[in-house]
Amino acid sequence: MSRLRFWRRRDPLMCREFVELVTDYLEGRLPEQERLRFEAHMDGCDGCTGYLEDMRRLVTSLGEVSEPPPDPATRKALGRAFRELRME
Ligand SMILES: [Zn+2]
Repeated sequence: MSRLRFWRRRDPLMCREFVELVTDYLEGRLPEQERLRFEAHMDGCDGCTGYLEDMRRLVTSLGEVSEPPPDPATRKALGRAFRELRME
């Protein structure tokens, strides 16, 4: 019960977290508990609700024309490979 109150409290830190995790949310990669926290936060935060809608439109339009982005491990490996190429 106290947990639910915590989730519903308007929390500026949660807004920043929201921005960072919004792509994971849209791609369905958030764990159940995080997803519920997201949705609870949106209930009380118009800013994040609007932001999510913008991101959803963006992701949808990008998804129509391009491959899904590589996962973080792949990106990291690619970054390392590019750095090594530049050093040669
Ligand atoms: Zn918010």
